[in-house]
Amino acid sequence: MGKMTEGKVGSFYNFLSDGCKLCQLGAKMVLFVTGKCERGCFYCPVSEDRKKDVVYANEHPVRSDEDVINEARQMSALGTGITGGEPLLELERALHYIRLLKSEFGPGHHIHLYTSIAPEKDTLAALAEAGLDEIRFHPPVELWNSLKDTPFADSIRTAIELDISAGIEIPAMEGAEKITDLVNSVGGFLNLNELEFSDTNADAMRKGGFELHDDMSNAVANSRAYAKKIAPCCAKFHFCSSRYKDAVQLKNRLLRTAENTARPFDEITEEGTIAYGVIKNSDPGSSLAVLQKMEVPDDLFEVMDGRIEIAWWVLEDIADELNEVGSILTIIERYPFEGGLVVQTTPI
Ligand code: SF4
Repeated sequence: MGKMTEGKVGSFYNFLSDGCKLCQLGAKMVLFVTGKCERGCFYCPVSEDRKKDVVYANEHPVRSDEDVINEARQMSALGTGITGGEPLLELERALHYIRLLKSEFGPGHHIHLYTSIAPEKDTLAALAEAGLDEIRFHPPVELWNSLKDTPFADSIRTAIELDISAGIEIPAMEGAEKITDLVNSVGGFLNLNELEFSDTNADAMRKGGFELHDDMSNAVANSRAYAKKIAPCCAKFHFCSSRYKDAVQLKNRLLRTAENTARPFDEITEEGTIAYGVIKNSDPGSSLAVLQKMEVPDDLFEVMDGRIEIAWWVLEDIADELNEVGSILTIIERYPFEGGLVVQTTPI
């Protein structure tokens, strides 16, 4: 078995699929093609408002193909991960998006897809034909014990025969060790995600006797330790920690996005958020007059609807003059896209 490498924030691996390599760079768009699913996993992390037939590109609801393309462009995506819910419950839609992304960004735009069902050969052939590069099967827990005797064994073999890179991706918990023989025998990979609490699964997790590892993350106690035990038995293994998704993947995606969206006066922070100043005033003209009197360059501020956004360091310099004309001053730090989550607001 290959040498195990310790990754960032508790992840480790002896193999990274192409999809994981791009994901670690923050270069994978997450395309949620439907929240419909017939599984009902006790650990399901999907939020309540997404447990229906909706489409999202990262955080953004999708209403047109353009929304998908624009989101991919905004983050300079090098690939896409198609997920859900169960994407294959909307097979034609999944195929449509694979073809759309390949035609817009070329065959090099790497696409992987998650599925909790065992698709037949014709479905896999259609996915291969459309250009799918990688498929990750998520079989239900009750089948882990005898997976090689289930349709999942055929699906993973057929996918590999069709030149789709294939593996199993499941939470790191008891029973996962039963899967290593199958993935090793077909040359597939095994991705274990650190089991974690979420708003939607917390009750079921507690009922299942699961506990938090610590109060720093949503990780479940012993999930990582479990993966450590399984890793040496698997030729192609990757454990992705709960904290990895925010501390590395999301941060890198935000940094890529900020490169494309930040204005000349936005500061891009190490976390990929942007920071800038905001001036509000019941008489906006009086604040604008201060900026003009102080000869603030035009590219260091922008007049918006009901506020002025400005370089925070300039705002700090002229705060006194602005306060004298009744301005309300704050520094905002938020995700670098329209409607991005505000992570900090600092009044001046
Ligand atoms: S297969 Fe995925 S979406 Fe469906 S219930 Fe399980 S975790 Fe949730």
